[in-house]
Amino acid sequence: MAEEQAAGAAELPDVLWRNPEPRDSYDAIVVGGGGHGLATAYYLAKNHGITNTAVLERGWLAGGNMARNTTIIRSNYLWDESAAIYEHALKLWEGLADELGVDVLFSQRGVLNLAHTLQDVREGTRRVQANRLNGIDAEWLTPEEARAICPILDISNSTRYPVLGATFQPRAGIAKHDYVAWAYARGADRLGVDLVQNCEVTGFLRDGDRVVGVRTTRGDIRAGLVGMAAAGRSSVLADTVGLRLPVQSHPLQALVSELLEPVHPTVVMSNAVHVYVSQAHKGELVMGAGVDQHNGYGQRGSVHVIEQQMAAALELFPVFARARVLRTWGGVVDVTPDASPVLGLTPFENLYVNCGWGTGGFKATPAVGWVLAHTMATGAPHELNAPYTLERFTTGALIDEHGAAAVAH
Ligand SMILES: Cc1cc2nc3c(=O)[nH]c(=O)nc-3n(C[C@H](O)[C@H](O)[C@H](O)COP(=O)(O)OP(=O)(O)OC[C@H]3O[C@@H](n4cnc5c(N)ncnc54)[C@H](O)[C@@H]3O)c2cc1C
Repeated sequence: MAEEQAAGAAELPDVLWRNPEPRDSYDAIVVGGGGHGLATAYYLAKNHGITNTAVLERGWLAGGNMARNTTIIRSNYLWDESAAIYEHALKLWEGLADELGVDVLFSQRGVLNLAHTLQDVREGTRRVQANRLNGIDAEWLTPEEARAICPILDISNSTRYPVLGATFQPRAGIAKHDYVAWAYARGADRLGVDLVQNCEVTGFLRDGDRVVGVRTTRGDIRAGLVGMAAAGRSSVLADTVGLRLPVQSHPLQALVSELLEPVHPTVVMSNAVHVYVSQAHKGELVMGAGVDQHNGYGQRGSVHVIEQQMAAALELFPVFARARVLRTWGGVVDVTPDASPVLGLTPFENLYVNCGWGTGGFKATPAVGWVLAHTMATGAPHELNAPYTLERFTTGALIDEHGAAAVAH
C-alpha cells in the first residue's frame, strides 16, 4: 500500500508548470515572461481560444519588474484614456483570485496621495472630480481625515512640507506580485501555453513587412502572431526588427525594512516629499524612489538613492526612525515622453507592441493581458488601448500622465 501511494505520488504534478522544449512553430508567441506577457498568453487562450502559444523569457518568469515592483494598484489617473484602462484592470483585480484560483493577496486598503502645496491641492481636487466623472471612487480629504485613515502620518505644522490634504481611493491597494505571476503562469500552462525560460529573442523572422517568427538563443521559431512584452528592454528588442520606439530605459529603485508589526494600514504617496510607503502582508515597510536620472540597465539599489528615500519617509512618518533597511534593489522601466504606454499595432504585420509603462505597469497587468490578447487575436486594438498608439508621438495626441508618474506608481 505504501509503495502504491509512493508510486501514485510520483505521478502527481510536482511542478508549478511544465518546462517544455520550444517547438518549431506556434500560432502566437509572446516575448517576455513578466506579468504582462503571462497575462497576455492566459487571455489569448482563455478569451480567444488561441492555445498554441509560447511565452519566451530570456531569464526566469517574473525575474524582471514583475517581482521587483512595489505592488501599488489604483485607477485614479487624470485623463479619460488612463482612467478607462486602469479601472478595467482594477475590476479584473477584484475578481482575479476567483478567475485564476489563487489567492493573490489583493488587499483593497486604499491609497492616499498627499498634497503639500497649493498646486498639489488644485491638482488633487481636480483629479478627484475627473475620477468621479469617470465612475472611479475618489475622495478629497482634510489632513485630519487622512490621519484618521493612517494614524502614524505626521500632519503637524512643524514638518518641512505640512500635509494640506489628500486624495483617497478606497478600492486601491496592493497585491502579492510573485503570486500574481505564478497564478497567470499556471493558468496559461493549464490551458496549453508553453512557458519557455532561458530563451532570449534576438531578432525577428520577416517576409517583407510581415513578421513570421523570431530568432532566439534556442533556435528560430515561426509564429503567426508575435507580441512584445519585454519591459525594460523594449527598445533593444524592437531595434532588432528596425523599429525605433520612443522609449528610454531607466533604473527604478525600491527597498524594504525589516519585518514589523502591522502599523501602516494603507498606502501613502507624496510627490513633493518624494516617497511612497506601504506595509507588505509579511510586515516589511515597502518604499520607493523616482527613476534614476540616467539611462541604464542596472537592477541594483544604490546607497545615495536609498538614503534620500529613508529621509523622505521619516518626514512623513517619524515613527520609522529606528526601522532598519533589510533589502534594496532596482528594476529597469521603459519611459515614454508622455509617461503613458504604447500598446497596439506596429508598422509590421503580425507584430504587436506593449511597452512604456514606466513606473506604473503592475497595476495594469490584467488589463494589458486582456487588451493585448484582443489586439493580437483580432488584428485591431480594443477600445481601451486604441488611444495608446505609436503614432501619437507624431500626431501630438499625447496622454500626459507625468503628474501620476513622478514618485506615484
Ligand atoms: C522598483 C519598482 C517599483 C515599481 N512599483 C510599481 C507599483 O507600485 N505599481 C505599479 O503599477 N507598477 C510598478 N512598477 C512598474 C511595473 O513593475 C512594470 O511597469 C511592469 O512590471 C512591466 O510589465 P511586466 O510585468 O511584464 O515586466 P517585466 O516583469 O519586466 O517583464 C518583461 C520580461 O521580458 C523579458 N525580456 C526582455 N527582453 C527579452 C528578450 N529579448 N527575449 C525574451 N525575454 C525578454 C525580461 O527578462 C522580463 O522578464 C515598478 C517597477 C519597479 C522597477
